[in-house]
Amino acid sequence: MSTDTAKKDILRGGQFLVKETNCEDVFTLEDLNEEQRMMRESTKEFVDRELWAHWERFENKDYAFTEETMRKAGELGLLSVAVPESYGGMGMGFVSTMLVCDYISGATGSFSTAFGAHTGIGTMPITLYGSEEQKQKYVPKLASGEWFGAYCLTEPGAGSDANSGKTKAVLSEDGKSYSITGQKMWISNAGFCNMFIVFARIEDDKNITGFIVENDPSNGITLGDEEKKLGIHSSSTRQVFFNETKVSVENMLSTRGNGFKIAMNALNVGRIKLAAACLDAQRRVIGEATKYANERIQFKTPIMNFGAIKSKIADMATSVYVDESASYRAAKNIEDRIAIREAEGNTHQEAELKGVEEYAIECSILKVAVSEDCQNTTDEGIQIFGGMGFSADTPMESAWRDSRIARIYEGTNEINRMLAVGMLVKKAMKGHVDLLGPATAVGEELMGIPSFDTPDFSELFAEEKDILKRLKKVFLMVAGSAVQKFGPELEKHQQLMLAASDILIEVYMAESALLRTEKNAKRFGEEAQATQIAMSRLYLFNATETIINKGKEAIISFAEGDEQRMMLMGLKRFTKYTNYPNVVALRTQIADKVAADNGYTFD
Ligand SMILES: Cc1cc2nc3c(=O)[nH]c(=O)nc-3n(C[C@H](O)[C@H](O)[C@H](O)COP(=O)(O)OP(=O)(O)OC[C@H]3O[C@@H](n4cnc5c(N)ncnc54)[C@H](O)[C@@H]3O)c2cc1C
Repeated sequence: MSTDTAKKDILRGGQFLVKETNCEDVFTLEDLNEEQRMMRESTKEFVDRELWAHWERFENKDYAFTEETMRKAGELGLLSVAVPESYGGMGMGFVSTMLVCDYISGATGSFSTAFGAHTGIGTMPITLYGSEEQKQKYVPKLASGEWFGAYCLTEPGAGSDANSGKTKAVLSEDGKSYSITGQKMWISNAGFCNMFIVFARIEDDKNITGFIVENDPSNGITLGDEEKKLGIHSSSTRQVFFNETKVSVENMLSTRGNGFKIAMNALNVGRIKLAAACLDAQRRVIGEATKYANERIQFKTPIMNFGAIKSKIADMATSVYVDESASYRAAKNIEDRIAIREAEGNTHQEAELKGVEEYAIECSILKVAVSEDCQNTTDEGIQIFGGMGFSADTPMESAWRDSRIARIYEGTNEINRMLAVGMLVKKAMKGHVDLLGPATAVGEELMGIPSFDTPDFSELFAEEKDILKRLKKVFLMVAGSAVQKFGPELEKHQQLMLAASDILIEVYMAESALLRTEKNAKRFGEEAQATQIAMSRLYLFNATETIINKGKEAIISFAEGDEQRMMLMGLKRFTKYTNYPNVVALRTQIADKVAADNGYTFD
């Protein structure tokens, strides 16, 4: 990144809500450079050849096959994209790592989980927090696929409450090693990994500590049977038991008591990459569903000609388009923030850590939004296939089952929804994002007389951008008043937090799509972007409806009398369209293009 870019005042995490973004400042999939495009192509080729062609093997719990294909991915360098060159990796930027994660994940959730657990939570804690010796010793092997990693945080009694684990680490009398004893569960890659990142508590410490533990069965490590799961059938998931497992003090990650921080930061990266991992699955489902709908004849016509099917195809295409827009926008923000920090003198390790932490709100937003879109898309995929969709002989059924886990791991969607709002409020309290100023301004605006001028909406997205600005006001009004009312007690009002979070999510996703399309319309022309314009409009309309619903629910839950009446009036004013889009026509336009292309062709 040039010094100019490094100096550029890029948006900080959470600031999208209170600052306007120019479309030229967002990164889009259309901005990929030559190297990234080649990377995408070789990833797709790998997936088609090694994974997609064998999806039945993944369904038949062929764990050895997952390991074999992971090793092949390692040979091709696909496991090392995010690893710095000094540790045997390719040292590519954050966007490239997202790209590989995206396109490698579409064929089967089994491989996608193994890949994510290894390259993300299995490797990142060492690259982000490891000492120089630890990085030299472990990272090159993990990057090449000679070794595989797993991440042991969850325990039977410690899931969402991750810092409450009971696994103990006891220092030996000579002070040279720790003895780890405890039970971990739901550990991805446990069946074939060579090392674990293990979180354990030393004495009665408030926070857990991280350790690198080599997988040596003669050192008190035993595995449970493979879990019988709804989906991701060939992803190895087992319990791991540590019984007085000896670990040298040199294998402590970072410092004593820093484990919870490591765990959470590894999860921030994991969350945005999980969003990426839910993109190509959607594209492939749309591709298969479109082909099927174009060929399947009922009532003497391809079912694609029915409005009921068109509406599904349009919604599916719109969701992945929006998801791509937001995922790559945030990825580039992270990449730029890392470069800025490096230019300021931070090591790559510190810069990466802080860069991702800065956008933790966006990481949570993406994790929730994209995993839920993936679930809906695979569900409608089954519906389009009708009875055949319910059959295990078509890939729709497994796609639906595989996608379900994305709402659970890397922090459940409930936890991530609350985190997104909670982190934003904390940032505001620390003065990192000025929520209070804009929230007060919104309050004052509500007391004033609304403008009755007829606005000029002739330019592309003029009305949409105006609505988006007002949707942000809905969040500021609802969250601002709720913070004033409840202060730090707000987090106890979970249903209110969830409603506020849904508003936040819709704003970020809708804005990302509008900005991507606006940028592309300016350079490629509006005609070339006609379908993308339709998708952006359709999404914004649906987002506005969700915000009306969630806003109402939130306001009524905590405001009464005149305050409630004023806020409901504000909600109406802030969500008003002057010219309603014809969503039926938009869906038809989108579906007709997807049908003509026989799949999703906007990436
Ligand atoms: C296939 C699979 C692979 C996994 N891989 C790994 C891995 O490699 N390493 C690892 O460490 N873990 C792994 N996990 C564990 C996963 O991260 C946890 O399952 C997840 O964090 C949820 O914890 P839990 O299952 O204990 O659910 P719980 O925490 O018991 O949650 C149950 C329900 O209660 C809700 N809930 C809990 N607390 C709150 C709260 N404070 N407020 C509101 N709602 C709440 C949750 O959202 C959820 O709906 C994996 C799990 C699965 C199923």
